Amino acid sequence: MFLTKLSQPSADERAKAESILQSVGDIAGSVQLGSEVLLLAKLDKGEVESVKSHLLSLNATSVATMISTPYVLSSRAASTDRTVVRINNDLVVGEREFVVMAGPCAVESPDQLDRTARAVRDAGARVLRGGAFKPRTSPFSSQGLGHEGLKMLAQARAATGLPIVSELLDSRELRAIDEHVDIIQIGMRNCLNYSLLKDVGSLLSRRPVLLKRGIGSTIDELLCAADYIMAGGNPNVILCLRGNVSFSSTSRSALNIADLPALRAKTHLPFVVDPSHVAGNWELVPAISAAAMAAGADGLLVEVHPNPTDALSDGKQSLIPARFEKLMEQLCQMGQVVGRPLRRPTVSPSDEKNPNEPYSNLCLEPPMGPLDDAGDHLNRSSSVAARQRRCCA
Ligand code: PEP
Ligand code: MN
Repeated sequence: MFLTKLSQPSADERAKAESILQSVGDIAGSVQLGSEVLLLAKLDKGEVESVKSHLLSLNATSVATMISTPYVLSSRAASTDRTVVRINNDLVVGEREFVVMAGPCAVESPDQLDRTARAVRDAGARVLRGGAFKPRTSPFSSQGLGHEGLKMLAQARAATGLPIVSELLDSRELRAIDEHVDIIQIGMRNCLNYSLLKDVGSLLSRRPVLLKRGIGSTIDELLCAADYIMAGGNPNVILCLRGNVSFSSTSRSALNIADLPALRAKTHLPFVVDPSHVAGNWELVPAISAAAMAAGADGLLVEVHPNPTDALSDGKQSLIPARFEKLMEQLCQMGQVVGRPLRRPTVSPSDEKNPNEPYSNLCLEPPMGPLDDAGDHLNRSSSVAARQRRCCA
């Protein structure tokens, strides 16, 4: 694949570069990464040298070269700067902040979602997760609340101020998902669903996408999947490692910790870890979360449920809110040591239960001493302000 990088091109310079490429080959994709426009083209080998010299005569061209990896746009060759994905005015993924997304596996009812959303928000989560369309192994298991679930997610966002991540299963739901969520999740089953990836990539909203690695996919396949999205013009891809098939029976799937630094070396895209689907068991979630932070993840996607025994899906791996709160305190402390601070929203959402309680910024206060058992947190009446004093002040 032939990669051309244009640095802050005018419309005229971009059109010139495109016409040089089109005169001898086909443009296979284009995307804007920061101030650079990347054009990918399929060229015959014999054309490469003359196309190069034409392109390099344009002021805007900074790179014109053949790339041999099967993925290009997500590769380090495409960008030496790390991509930072903006979710809203107050949140980006891929900078120093360690971003925790949390919530139930599936949206089950307004009450379940509201309780979970407030709990994870108060504990410091920055994004609310919740599946409205659920991919289930058995066709007879609960398939999610669908469009009703999306409406509940939008209500939870209005109540808590948290942006929403939710899974897209089928292109027929693309418009509804794009309308209701802030981050579109592509689940592990669809990591290799190329028509779905293309559809998401060509969304005009350029909605951020959380792309999960397939359970049997290699890192290179994951990066090719990211390229399917990016080639349509959407650079806002956050990768998610959620474990792979393995012979080990200690957890639901296996996360190779070496994949985290390897991914960081191969791609400029930010990535998070989903410790819940790695573990399959809530007791393993804190250690996997800490390992992910230490090994270079930009954040987490964690399942939390107010009453896991009654959960319609993935109850076994869901943390109760008190345990999630404890995990957040631990991550906050650890983040101070490894340079990955957790943050609070800078703007307080309109929330009747916590009127005018200010949110502050960085988790830079010293730790508050030994943590209590998770069970103790259940009985504490802790306001947002009190929680901040304990850790993320
Ligand atoms: C989920 O996030 O609930 C989910 C279904 O994840 P995965 O696609 O990783 O199995
Ligand atoms: Mn799940």
